[in-house]
Amino acid sequence: MQLSRSRALFERAQRVIPGGVNSPVRAFGSVGGTPPFIAQAQGAYIEDVDGNRYIDYVGSWGPMLFGHADPDVVRAIQEAAARSPSFGAPTELEVRVAELICELVPSIEMVRLVNSGTEATMSAVRLARAYTGRPKIIKFEGHYHGHADFFLIAAGSGALTYGQPNSPGVTPGTAQDTLLARFNDLQHVEQLVEANAGEVAAIILEPVAGNMGCVPPEPGFLEGLRALCDRHGILLIFDEVMTGFRVARGGAQERYGVLPDLTTLGKVIGGGLPVGAYGGRREIMEYVAPKGPVYQAGTLSGNPLAMAAGYAVLRKIADTPDLYERLERFGAALEEGVRENLKGLGLDLYFTRVGAMATLFFTSERVVDYETARRCDTRRFARYFHAMLEEGIYLPPSQFEAFFFSTAHGERELEQTLSAQRRALARVFA
Ligand code: PLP
Repeated sequence: MQLSRSRALFERAQRVIPGGVNSPVRAFGSVGGTPPFIAQAQGAYIEDVDGNRYIDYVGSWGPMLFGHADPDVVRAIQEAAARSPSFGAPTELEVRVAELICELVPSIEMVRLVNSGTEATMSAVRLARAYTGRPKIIKFEGHYHGHADFFLIAAGSGALTYGQPNSPGVTPGTAQDTLLARFNDLQHVEQLVEANAGEVAAIILEPVAGNMGCVPPEPGFLEGLRALCDRHGILLIFDEVMTGFRVARGGAQERYGVLPDLTTLGKVIGGGLPVGAYGGRREIMEYVAPKGPVYQAGTLSGNPLAMAAGYAVLRKIADTPDLYERLERFGAALEEGVRENLKGLGLDLYFTRVGAMATLFFTSERVVDYETARRCDTRRFARYFHAMLEEGIYLPPSQFEAFFFSTAHGERELEQTLSAQRRALARVFA
């Protein structure tokens, strides 16, 4: 595969940007090699500066539910840009986006728009602390909620990939207010709550974990957390930055029928532009400034370009009745094909999928938490990743990331992906 232009750009980038990238996982640290620098993308395909074309299963890490350069989204952005990219004043589009989010996500009655998933989770925790008057939060090992200090404790995604779960720069004082629990282990969470009685403001989690690979909740786990929170006056926060509008129209809370007190969103709701949101019960959200005392603000919050893209996406989500059935059909066919490939090659690897997110774990063991995820053969995954890239399939460059597909992925992409995978797996396990 020809990557000379990407290689040259990566060298230039490393001189002026730490590690050559603006977000760690993009640097291919855990799989090695040169990351392709991207020139353009359309539908299910992404193309690098050397002219290599790939079927894309990263989707900008989640936002591209309708594929790249969706004409409705592009048009909305162009029209908004012509009216000026930003005003720093209220707009009708913000109201429409907020109304649609409240309509589509079961537990959200009021919502505040911000610029990233990190801002959303950070603000939701501040709000939970203010509302309950308690200092501590419980998070789960291997879950990623962005890069606010108090989340960088046994975090997933890049932090897990790079094996530095406790980032330098996070003070012990901050770290002591973050309690760590094992995902899918209700008893462990109960013990933590009891040992910190009256001190826990919130339990925050990815209801389907995506940042240690795709790890679904065990039956009863989310319900158990809901009941525990109710018993102890703790707020339950679902971080649906990844799962929102991806595992179901109303996110994981709709899919599993468990309603959190607060929800954080990002990725899909920006259609590829920087947007995040946190929302929930009215009485809690009314604590947020200027209605209430909890400060949170943003020069570019509710930015008109981002709102135009977000509204275009949310409108399509609301107006496409069979959207999730279509994604489910593709997902089920892909899953069946992957299982056939594994069986045909006599391989016992663990595959998970929830809606339009999935992971092939390089282990035969059931992956249910951080410990079991970490036991994967990451070196063999790296070889598989490169074999797939050479076959023209662009996967997330880490075992600890879910891969995503969109409505632009169809029959042709399915067949190409599965035959590429058959050859790649055969090579890697030869
Ligand atoms: N929460 C989850 C579940 C995420 O997957 C991410 C990003 O991948 C974030 C929060 C942080 O979002 P952002 O990268 O937009 O700050």
